[in-house]
Amino acid sequence: MKLKTLTLGPVQTNTYILADTDTNEAVVVDPAWDGATIAKVALDEGWQIKAIWLTHAHFDHIGGIAELVAALPEIPPVYLHPEDYDLWKDGGGAKRFGFSIDPGPEPEALSHRQILEVGRFKFETRHTPGHRPGHSVFYCTEEKIAFTGDLIFYRSVGRTDLPGGNWATLEKSIREQIYTLPDDVKIFSGHGDATSVGDERIGNHFVKASA
Ligand SMILES: [Zn+2]
Ligand SMILES: [Zn+2]
Repeated sequence: MKLKTLTLGPVQTNTYILADTDTNEAVVVDPAWDGATIAKVALDEGWQIKAIWLTHAHFDHIGGIAELVAALPEIPPVYLHPEDYDLWKDGGGAKRFGFSIDPGPEPEALSHRQILEVGRFKFETRHTPGHRPGHSVFYCTEEKIAFTGDLIFYRSVGRTDLPGGNWATLEKSIREQIYTLPDDVKIFSGHGDATSVGDERIGNHFVKASA
């Protein structure tokens, strides 16, 4: 498996391109911005983008979808938890920040514990509301990696003051869906540096490992 991280857009959002290098099948987690750039990075590696996985529908995580799919030979399925469909339809809430977004093709519904695949690798979807009602994380047991969107960051957590945010729900999602993972699972967040479950269980002062 190979992972490429691109930091894109007006609020420096991490876009991840993840590939099974045996089959050259790839997925994009949160095409944040500059979709043509994302497509080119995959093309240069010889990867075929088979799906787009969205952690949630804020504009800074979906802003590159339309341009990305336009640059691909076939439109891949886009997966999103249905509780974020309204926000997706609204262009990710971009208007309140002075942007306008084409949110791209209609998403398919993600559910808690749904298994997604990239090549031979399997990821478990975990519904993790708190930052957004339709927020999901994607966890691969075999590779010990998790894509956590805006749920948890290196020494920080997602904001809960935007529409649909809820602090108690965010804490519960982190404790039940992240801190229960093995300590050596690497966390790739929507913003900032990568971290690990063990590091955050000890070093994250916003949500402690136990209440
Ligand atoms: Zn967000
Ligand atoms: Zn974000």
